[in-house]
Amino acid sequence: MRYSALQILKQGLTGNKGWKPVWREPDPKPEYDIVIVGGGGHGLATAYYLAQEFQQANIAVIEKGWLGSGNIGRNTTIVRSNYLLPGNLPFYEFSLKLWEGLEQELNYNLMMSQRGVLNLYHSDAQRDAYARRGNAMRLEGVDAELLDVDQVRKLYPNLNHANARFPIHGGLLQRRGGTARHDAVAWGYARAADQKGVDIIQNCEVTGFLIESGKIAGIETSRGTIRATKIGVAVAGSTSRVMEKAELRLPIESHVLQAFVTEGIKPALPGVITYGAGHFYISQSDKGGLVFGGDLDGYNSYAQRGNLATVEHVVEAGVSMLPMIGRARMLRSWGGVMDMTMDGSPIIDKTPIDGLFLNCGWCYGGFKATPASGYCFAHLIARNQPHEAAIAYRLDRYETGHVIDEAGHGAQPNLH
Ligand SMILES: Cc1cc2nc3c(=O)[nH]c(=O)nc-3n(C[C@H](O)[C@H](O)[C@H](O)COP(=O)(O)OP(=O)(O)OC[C@H]3O[C@@H](n4cnc5c(N)ncnc54)[C@H](O)[C@@H]3O)c2cc1C
Repeated sequence: MRYSALQILKQGLTGNKGWKPVWREPDPKPEYDIVIVGGGGHGLATAYYLAQEFQQANIAVIEKGWLGSGNIGRNTTIVRSNYLLPGNLPFYEFSLKLWEGLEQELNYNLMMSQRGVLNLYHSDAQRDAYARRGNAMRLEGVDAELLDVDQVRKLYPNLNHANARFPIHGGLLQRRGGTARHDAVAWGYARAADQKGVDIIQNCEVTGFLIESGKIAGIETSRGTIRATKIGVAVAGSTSRVMEKAELRLPIESHVLQAFVTEGIKPALPGVITYGAGHFYISQSDKGGLVFGGDLDGYNSYAQRGNLATVEHVVEAGVSMLPMIGRARMLRSWGGVMDMTMDGSPIIDKTPIDGLFLNCGWCYGGFKATPASGYCFAHLIARNQPHEAAIAYRLDRYETGHVIDEAGHGAQPNLH
């Protein structure tokens, strides 16, 4: 079924009885050509592009929970491509370009809203760093504008511009950045992949790998053995636990990141803002809630929940940037498990086991990467060659020294 205004009218006039389930619920087959482990945004996007762009068939996505139960349904929904380094910038811009046509391509309302992402700066040194990043972006053909404080005040009159420990001096604005509805992205890719014949198997946990003479031969799952000669793993925060079953140790640490949402208030924030004097990012949802987040909790964990000290830390940064949020009541908070790499950049690569491919290390920036990650991972699996936009995301870069340290923090996964 294609979604359209005409379809809504037709269903409305016939008692809404004709809507079909958005995807099928098939039983797992004993064998597929390609299996993707993890039904998050990246796994579902990979399956869709494998079928749509690379003409692959007989594909399954294996998900231990339900679609949207992982980070794809837990993030603060920010989409942008304002990166600095050559390994990252073309990849994230490729992703933003895919986002720009995604709703039409998937025929699904992702609530993509290019409302602008503004990074605030608070000192001359920070202004220089942002000018450098903006210049790198413009050299790649990516939009970037350096604003002074008056321009920021015009866009966001509610910020604490001057009466603060770190007064706002200006900001780096990417107008094409914005937000998209996170779980709708999982549903949109799932529906489109299902329409291309991909079997999406929910409530099926991968418990082991079948490896025969150094080659992948299949997976063990809670619903039986499934054979396949190509397997792509995209399990985000569970990467180290899942890959351990193939006896691979990875340069990944899992950390908790929390997000928060307040009660709905009148429109107050037209776009996404990030604080430059602390770690804090905020936008306002279409329902009026302020959606925000900050630093990781700072300890290794696989629990999808955080602790109160971090709530206080994040809210402190928010109130110092935007004192008015002190009056808003926080409704909900939740946590997700982040696959943090040693350099803060992702991995899309083959593994030493023939036929076993790896997609991970998204830290807390993987939502915006969903389309490009799926596209490039599908390219790698189908053609056995990396896509040019993801060529730097090699697993062996920690051995060779070709790290992509966007934040300049060194091998400190909790700081990236
Ligand atoms: C609070 C928070 C805020 C964030 N904010 C942003 C943001 O604003 N912008 C941004 O770009 N990124 C953001 N991120 C990061 C982004 O959400 C993630 O990087 C991205 O969603 C990870 O990819 P995914 O969608 O495939 O992960 P997931 O949705 O976590 O998918 C992985 C799937 O693998 C499944 N799985 C795990 N183990 C197994 C197994 N053994 N067998 C089968 N399946 C298994 C899991 O159940 C899960 O569904 C944020 C994350 C969090 C938690």
